[in-house]
Amino acid sequence: MTQINRIEDVYRPVDERIKDTKEVERKFFPTEIMAQASRCSDCGIPFCHGAGCPLGNLVPEFNTAVAVGDIRKGYDIISKTAFFPEFTGRVCPALCESCCTRNLNDDAVMVRQVEKFMIETAFEEGWVSLPAAEPNGKTAAVIGSGPAGLFAAEALRRKGFAVTVYEKREKVGGLLRYGIPNWKLEKQIIDRRVALLEAAGIKFVCSTEIGKDISAEYIHKNYDEVVLAIGTPNARDLKIPGREAEGIYLALDFLHGAEMPDEKNPERFSAKGKKVLVIGGGDTGNDCVGKSIREGCKSVLQVEFMPKPPETRSPSTPWPDWPYMLRTSYAHHEGGERRWNVSSKQFIVKDGKVAGVEAVRVEWEMSPLGKPLKPTEVPNTTEIIEADLVVLAMGFTGVPAEGIVNDLGLQLTPRTAIIPDPSRHIYAVGDCANGASLVVRAMADAKRVVGKIK
Ligand SMILES: Cc1cc2nc3c(=O)[nH]c(=O)nc-3n(C[C@H](O)[C@H](O)[C@H](O)COP(=O)(O)OP(=O)(O)OC[C@H]3O[C@@H](n4cnc5c(N)ncnc54)[C@H](O)[C@@H]3O)c2cc1C
Repeated sequence: MTQINRIEDVYRPVDERIKDTKEVERKFFPTEIMAQASRCSDCGIPFCHGAGCPLGNLVPEFNTAVAVGDIRKGYDIISKTAFFPEFTGRVCPALCESCCTRNLNDDAVMVRQVEKFMIETAFEEGWVSLPAAEPNGKTAAVIGSGPAGLFAAEALRRKGFAVTVYEKREKVGGLLRYGIPNWKLEKQIIDRRVALLEAAGIKFVCSTEIGKDISAEYIHKNYDEVVLAIGTPNARDLKIPGREAEGIYLALDFLHGAEMPDEKNPERFSAKGKKVLVIGGGDTGNDCVGKSIREGCKSVLQVEFMPKPPETRSPSTPWPDWPYMLRTSYAHHEGGERRWNVSSKQFIVKDGKVAGVEAVRVEWEMSPLGKPLKPTEVPNTTEIIEADLVVLAMGFTGVPAEGIVNDLGLQLTPRTAIIPDPSRHIYAVGDCANGASLVVRAMADAKRVVGKIK
């Protein structure tokens, strides 16, 4: 029998994809996906399903169906646990794959691509429809329409609630729309799902900020259940000298211009012809590199305070843990440079505009298993990194909703996440309850919390 290898390159050719903002991944032939699904060994203890997938997706079961070409059965199986596989099938880091048993002495099964193929086939074949729900005579308000809010709304609808989703932005989707770039998740994918949710009776009220346009207390009085799903878009800033200079942007502001080209003043955030410096080595920073390249920057450098992770799984995160290791995203294949151990000390400002960053090298004390513990600045390593556009991509913190929290008299954790109050029928799901995380975790949290609502 011939050995089937995992397909590593899932992207369109670089020179083609950087000229547009369409989906960065290529389409797979059904036979390719069936072959990939057949790599699943349906092992006795599927860590992918248990430890891996926060939604508890039945991964070996759908792989088995897809491997023999029964895509309908695969779709029916994933529909038991996931409401929106078209989102996770595109943007999930695939926690399931990192703990795939094949990883022990081979490469993981391509679970995310199988998921995407099943749901896209389902849409093409017209299989996607939402199950009918018997009304229970009760009402629920969901505040926020990101993945957690959408999942909560669908879960409540299935329980028979009359659901209204309030969203402060013009359009539904949260960070799916106003964070994750189009080339990772084209926005018509969100619109396609929202149309189905609307057809199933969920009401969306956009451009309405709860705690400002409508008080949260009013919502609380007028609905039987209130689910807060307001996310954490408060970006972590870098308050070093020179921060006020023109040309220094928070990642979401920078990225947002790419997705909403008709919004006010899109040129302001354009990287065209610029020497871009992205501060922050995570996924958001990677997307900023991708945007800079698509816009025709002169150069792009991404710097990270932490040390360069090892090329292979660090012993500090043995299988089946999520591996601490170097990750190279689609954007890094497109261009630019990456550096680690860089600490930014002050911005260089000329005529009110950013001209660079003064930085110093740090060294990290490591644990015996290779986990970074403590940084120390290395003397005499100060340098100037030239840049005329700087993007800060250093994560998110806190919740954006003093209004809601005050209106409802809610408490916050020390990390300023909302503490819900189920005794008063107030719940919190997703990033606002747990801190900035992942689409799949936001949805899984909504599933868990709404599961308890009667
Ligand atoms: C640039 C970027 C790239 C990312 N890429 C990925 C990725 O590839 N894969 C992945 O898994 N995760 C990714 N993430 C993380 C992921 O997007 C979030 O974890 C997820 O969206 C959180 O979902 P949520 O529903 O809790 O919050 P959000 O998506 O933030 O949604 C919250 C919603 O609440 C609304 N809202 C807030 N306050 C109010 C109010 N007072 N009234 C009404 N509405 C309100 C907001 O406008 C927003 O629409 C990325 C994040 C960013 C920023």
